[in-house]
Amino acid sequence: MPATRVTLGPSVADAISASPDDSCTTDLAESPWSFDDVPGYGPGSSMADPFPQHAPVQRDLPPTYRDASDDELHARIRVAREELGERVVILGHFYQRDEVVQHADYVGDSFQLARAATEHPNAEAIVFCGVHFMAETADLLSGPDQEVVLPHLGAGCSMADMASIDEVEDCWEQLEDILGPLDEPDADGLAPVIPVTYMNSSAAIKGFVGRNGGIVCTSSNARTVLEWAFARGRRVLFFPDQHLGRNTAKAMGVPLTSMPMWNPRQPLGGSSASELVGSRVILWHGFCSVHRRFTTAQIDKARAEHPGVRVIVHPECPMPVVDAADEWGSTDVIRRAIEGATEPQTFAIGTEINLVQRLAAQHPQHTIFCLDPVVCPCSTMYRIHPAYLAWVLERLVAGETVNQITVSDDVAAPARLALDRMLAATP
Ligand code: SF4
Repeated sequence: MPATRVTLGPSVADAISASPDDSCTTDLAESPWSFDDVPGYGPGSSMADPFPQHAPVQRDLPPTYRDASDDELHARIRVAREELGERVVILGHFYQRDEVVQHADYVGDSFQLARAATEHPNAEAIVFCGVHFMAETADLLSGPDQEVVLPHLGAGCSMADMASIDEVEDCWEQLEDILGPLDEPDADGLAPVIPVTYMNSSAAIKGFVGRNGGIVCTSSNARTVLEWAFARGRRVLFFPDQHLGRNTAKAMGVPLTSMPMWNPRQPLGGSSASELVGSRVILWHGFCSVHRRFTTAQIDKARAEHPGVRVIVHPECPMPVVDAADEWGSTDVIRRAIEGATEPQTFAIGTEINLVQRLAAQHPQHTIFCLDPVVCPCSTMYRIHPAYLAWVLERLVAGETVNQITVSDDVAAPARLALDRMLAATP
């Protein structure tokens, strides 16, 4: 199995341990198992976000892992990995900590990784070092006999959880009350509304979208997907990330006045019926706790301190930040912009710090830094400490699958339909 060649950056975990006060919460310096058995998103920037009632909670990690040194854990991971051979494929998300990423066979964004898994139909287990919705997507795209494992069940995504299936179905009913039957096209053949979900959503939401003529998008193909949706509908209901929806639609020329917000905790989402009728894109009130930390003040400071700096931010950042940046795009766009720079340059990047520091290490000819001066990783993904990776791998060696993520058949079929529409629209 060809392991991904990854140049590791300075460890974010080491930086947090050395100086907890310089991170977004001192809880990040705690051992991840301090938070096991406790429902929540900690430690990190998502801690204040509401945690869904039925979200899975990681149970006790055996002491043999909790008490092991870092060196011992890495050695145990390597031995288990070796023993499992082609029976397992380990996937590491761009935002995953380096201590885990160094053991991954593939490193990429959520969709690249789910596709990488499909290249290994003979692997019995796919160990996804990311968050819950990513493992679900891997389960949707993998073979029926393959098992997908999430090393820490508390690695959810606060953004994905901001759109629950009950809330989305309730929204759909309310829209039907003011827009009329949503499954009946008008005289031009356009549906009243097309649901579009970001990849960062649960399988249940993807299934809803598939059942209702909608489609999935990623941060790489959001514009193409919106074009697909506008060819089929009068308007789009975009969830869960308001920022990706707003930034993409604005770049396509959709006026901000045609993008009312839908806050699921308010009647009609907090918008008026006339705003919804006159809308082109209805934006769900969701966001990423990491990317919303970026500000225009950080960009101003970077420009003042580094004349000529090239500012590139992710579309999950708020609109004023995207507007103030030189460029914006998915993690892949950011990565390719840096790879494509032939002369040494200074880059200020607005995305998760593990990726930024890894890019800095991979491109020492450039000066690359994170716009946010506070060390604040994706706290949910950060819960996957090497101890959990060692645990799930050693259990697989012993013939036991722990932390398996499965999507039920009734959800999987329409969810795959929504993913297939995306693949057809953006081959
Ligand atoms: S970085 Fe944000 S959107 Fe991505 S997995 Fe973490 S919480 Fe979710």
